[in-house]
Amino acid sequence: MTRRQKKRLLALTGSLAIVICAGMVLGTVYAQAVEQEQQEEAAVQKIVLPDVLEEETLESTEELEAERTEEEEHLPEDWNLILVNRTHPIPENYQVELKNIGSGHQIDARAYDDFRAMIQAAKREGVYIYVTSSYRDLDKQTDLYNKKVESYVMQGYSYESARKQAGQVVAVPGTSEHHLGLALDIVSSEYRKLDEKQEETKGFKWLTEHSWEYGFILRYPNGETDITGIIYEPWHFRYVGLEAAKEITEAGITLEEYVGAKPVSEGLAELEEQEKQEKQEKLKSLYR
Ligand SMILES: [Zn+2]
Repeated sequence: MTRRQKKRLLALTGSLAIVICAGMVLGTVYAQAVEQEQQEEAAVQKIVLPDVLEEETLESTEELEAERTEEEEHLPEDWNLILVNRTHPIPENYQVELKNIGSGHQIDARAYDDFRAMIQAAKREGVYIYVTSSYRDLDKQTDLYNKKVESYVMQGYSYESARKQAGQVVAVPGTSEHHLGLALDIVSSEYRKLDEKQEETKGFKWLTEHSWEYGFILRYPNGETDITGIIYEPWHFRYVGLEAAKEITEAGITLEEYVGAKPVSEGLAELEEQEKQEKQEKLKSLYR
């Protein structure tokens, strides 16, 4: 090997070593970079993952709570907005101070002045309206109902189906709005029957226009039976107070909707479902 050759070899080895070293350094740096990136990614995943999970759990709890509040009703406690229907019986021991309005009829004393004002305003415009039904005693309703149930039992019905049948003819005690002393059946002087033709009378037309001015609403409007649980009754008016009567009339809604109560049809379906489940439970326990 000549000196020249030796020099070239040395230079070659040197540069090779440099290349290898550089490669190693670069490789390490790259590997480190990749590792760091992976670590960062993992870290990001670690942070993001629980976050997403938490968010999902939060959402479903919120949904559940929303569903729960939807099921629970928070009805107002104001005396004038109290709801009594087939799924909302009158509170036990409900006390009311009554005032006579003539012909043996009575009304909640707090609605008396507005009622008098309404009758007189109609009279001034040549419209004569009469009350045919007002406050009804709970005992009286219970008597009526029990007698009806009894008569079905006598006909051979089981007690349960007799109860069901009777409930369709006579309001189940405690579920008639007349117990409150805030409901009145009103007819016009020229037609005193409680049927749909009542809506063609002068009295009904006047009441449709003006009853809200005195705190009264048409309680069972046409086409709202699903909500109220009662057929169209163009004679049954309910005192709800001046403010509520105005708002309900303007919005064209029912009392159920105004106070945020479930439609009666929905409540009845739920009750039926509950009864079914209770029966099944009873049967199951019998065979256990
Ligand atoms: Zn009525």
